[in-house]
Amino acid sequence: MALLTDNAAWVTERLAALPEKAPFEAGANVMIDGVLHPIAHAPGTRGGAWIEDGVVRVAGDPSFLARRVHDFLRAEAKRRFGAQALVKAQRAGLAPRRVTVKNTHTRWGSCSPDGVLMFCWRLIMAPPFVQDYVVAHEVAHLRHMNHGAAFWALTDELSPHRTQAVAWLHEEGPRLLRAG
Ligand SMILES: [Zn+2]
Repeated sequence: MALLTDNAAWVTERLAALPEKAPFEAGANVMIDGVLHPIAHAPGTRGGAWIEDGVVRVAGDPSFLARRVHDFLRAEAKRRFGAQALVKAQRAGLAPRRVTVKNTHTRWGSCSPDGVLMFCWRLIMAPPFVQDYVVAHEVAHLRHMNHGAAFWALTDELSPHRTQAVAWLHEEGPRLLRAG
């Protein structure tokens, strides 16, 4: 808390520099895999949200549209990051105990000491090379619970995209946090 107070001017400046909020609403765009997808309400249909011809179509009552887009992206993130983590872990002779997604604001992923991998669902909006790197990073933590040389060697073995992905997250990451 003292640190925050001491740096109040800096914090205010950083917050002001954050991108505008980008709510999930009909007519707006949502980024999926780094590609902008328009959001469209599909009246008279049932079944949550889905992608059709590059458009995120959302069924049901329009007042639940944002929630349905959110649930759809979160489910996609869980399904895909779960599958990708299993494939990468297998390549390294490892196995996560479980893969979860959460709404985190300070980290894109984590690995618990008992082997549970967590990813921020918002990474589903990032380009595939970014997702690939973050998954590789957390899978590598299943073997190395540190950021030592052996850890980075395994991370780079599991994904060739580290430099590019770190740069992308630094530049564009804040936008992912403001979406929805
Ligand atoms: Zn790490």
